[in-house]
Amino acid sequence: MDRNHSRRDVLRSMTAATASLSAWPRMACAQQGIRHTLWVVDHIGPAHLIGNQVQTVLGAIGVLNLAFMAPLVTNPLADSITAQLSATPNFAPGDAVVFLVLNPARSVLPNSPTKPSVLGKSAYVPGAPSICEVYWERCFNDLEVAGALFHEAAHGMSQQGDDMHDYRSSGIGGPGVRVLAEQQQGVPKLPSYADLEFYAAAIRRRTTFVTSVP
Ligand SMILES: [Zn+2]
Repeated sequence: MDRNHSRRDVLRSMTAATASLSAWPRMACAQQGIRHTLWVVDHIGPAHLIGNQVQTVLGAIGVLNLAFMAPLVTNPLADSITAQLSATPNFAPGDAVVFLVLNPARSVLPNSPTKPSVLGKSAYVPGAPSICEVYWERCFNDLEVAGALFHEAAHGMSQQGDDMHDYRSSGIGGPGVRVLAEQQQGVPKLPSYADLEFYAAAIRRRTTFVTSVP
């Protein structure tokens, strides 16, 4: 084999490798075929804020779509994902429902007592619909509300408790979750790849949810 020939071969295999790299995202997307709506049910009532909070319900939904749902589609871990405000969620398998309630005293969960600092809580039993809520008064801004909604939706879909908080992407030193880690009140975070990965896998479980206030 002469020198030119082998260089051509190298070039050809490099071109093939590049082509398969650029084709990968679309293939992965087509294989996944995931669609999902995170339904947010506003159960706050006349929305008061108790301190220096600056969130609005529509602002939080906007951040949820921009910072959490959109990266799931562009990565691509899913085909179609949105967060939507609705009093009557049109639930389909693979969706999630989270109630926004004022505080734990207004909980819609069967057992409401909860730790003083948590931003939300979920109740789940394998084989039964999950029920999730986020405490409006405990959040500081749109990003914190969005993160809390994403966090509880993931608990509800995965039906996992504290194990979710320690999830890590596979691989050497795989990054851990940030938004799905145990939350610190007043420290809103943007999602890590591990957050998106865990959430996409949870969608595939097609867990059912309580869709109206019990
Ligand atoms: Zn949690």
